Amino acid sequence: MLQLINVCHTYAGGRKKGKDGTVPRPALTDVSFTVPQGEFVILSGPNGSGKSTLFRILCGLTLPSSGTITVDGLDLRTQMAAIRPLLGVVFQSPAIDKQLTVIENLRMQADLYTLPRRELTARCDEVLAWTDLKERLSQRVETLSGGLARQVELAKVLLTRPKLLLLDEPTTGLDPSSRRNFLMALRKIQKEQGITTLMTSHIFSDAETVDRVAILRQGQLLACDTPAALKCTLGCEVVVIVPRNPEEFARTLRDNLSYPVQLCGDEVRVEGLGLGAGVPLLENIMDRWRGEIQTIALKKPDLEDVFVHVTGQVEQSRSEGEQP
Ligand code: ADP
Ligand code: MG
Repeated sequence: MLQLINVCHTYAGGRKKGKDGTVPRPALTDVSFTVPQGEFVILSGPNGSGKSTLFRILCGLTLPSSGTITVDGLDLRTQMAAIRPLLGVVFQSPAIDKQLTVIENLRMQADLYTLPRRELTARCDEVLAWTDLKERLSQRVETLSGGLARQVELAKVLLTRPKLLLLDEPTTGLDPSSRRNFLMALRKIQKEQGITTLMTSHIFSDAETVDRVAILRQGQLLACDTPAALKCTLGCEVVVIVPRNPEEFARTLRDNLSYPVQLCGDEVRVEGLGLGAGVPLLENIMDRWRGEIQTIALKKPDLEDVFVHVTGQVEQSRSEGEQP
């Protein structure tokens, strides 16, 4: 449904040398991946990794410097007019009219897409079925909570039955329960209607149930696979240690253990453990270096661990992953 081949992008003026003589790096470098029909893919990566750039390109707001993108076999560079009606887009910042009521926002979207009026009632019923908005259709959006306003936004986008749904951090600013409700509804509709979906998110719990996760860093695609396959690359268990002196302790473990050891911020991580290897290793580490350890934990790898492993950044994933 969506195919990217060697997509590169450098912002205009980006090749000029900075004050220190360095050449700024491109926002995207040779990004290639495919989102098959009906799949839900999450695009993740630290700030500045190129997610929004890619999003803007896919929406047709920016042309890539080079590379090929096709949507349903149509070339984004030359056939954007034919692609646009297939797209549904939810931007990070709200794109609904707060002064209008819920139903007025939906009618306006229907008019923009020249949806026949006689279809409007049925379509509205369809897109509102999962929401908590049915009793609030005449309420102005500015009087709704953040979670409900986001529901309006998604309902609005679904009104035109998009084939490809693009969402840029759609849950930013929502409290955990609104976020969960929004995502559960999105996933349900997406599956029922077979809508191919690409969503950017920093929140790893969001990604556990999706079909595939793509991770960008500094404009490069570092990984793109199913959550299970990504977690498998870390082995069955991970030992996460916060030592008193992280750099020195990472060196010590590398010299003494046969497992891969990663230093990420304040943490030292021992990865690649086979089934049942975690507890003996943890006991061994405690016996030998107890005095150098502040905290130690044994855990099954989750997607946050994959992100830390792939990007080498731990602080980012924590601070971004735990937004309210
Ligand atoms: P993300 O959404 O992952 O945080 P962005 O796509 O916004 O990342 O940014 C990727 C890179 O492109 C960053 O280095 C950023 O500074 C740069 N960038 C983003 N927008 C612009 C722009 N309009 N002009 C120049 N550089 C930009
Ligand atoms: Mg962004």
